[in-house]
Amino acid sequence: MKTNRLSNSLQAALNDQVRREAEAAQIYLSFAAWASAEGYAGIAKFLFNHAIEERSHMMKIVAYILERGAKVKIEAIAAPGKPPTSILNCFEQLFEQEIANTKAIFEIVKKSLEEEDWATWQYLQWFVKEQTEEEALLLNLLDKIKIAGGADATCDALYMVDGDLQKMSDAMILSEK
Ligand code: MG
Repeated sequence: MKTNRLSNSLQAALNDQVRREAEAAQIYLSFAAWASAEGYAGIAKFLFNHAIEERSHMMKIVAYILERGAKVKIEAIAAPGKPPTSILNCFEQLFEQEIANTKAIFEIVKKSLEEEDWATWQYLQWFVKEQTEEEALLLNLLDKIKIAGGADATCDALYMVDGDLQKMSDAMILSEK
């Protein structure tokens, strides 16, 4: 009796997404370490928290694959690229990475629609919403950095942005409790 409730192609696509979420976590982790070394404690805290969030996305998908009686395959993950060249560059790179992740999610949604796998289609709606929120959050942060002067932001202005992110991270931790 066949108990795997996922098609081979959706199983492969979801496993690929597990790897993507793990890679996203490593990118946030590496940028967090960079920000911390540069002295931006608030930005580092925000990015460290976000690395954990990406890992939780990975775990969510692992749990779903198992729930459907399918096979989880953990693959090697790519090393993050070079460290950012500035705070603006850091958030621009993260925004681009989130857009790439959104596109990957959309591709799996499309596949689930084509295969009429409504369980997977419905499950993925959480990720569609999550990606919209991730993109909005990063756009908002990019706006703040641009107002602070973008690539020419002064130390004073970046100090303010860093403080804002520290407060935002503290508020997020409190709201999770
Ligand atoms: Mg994610």
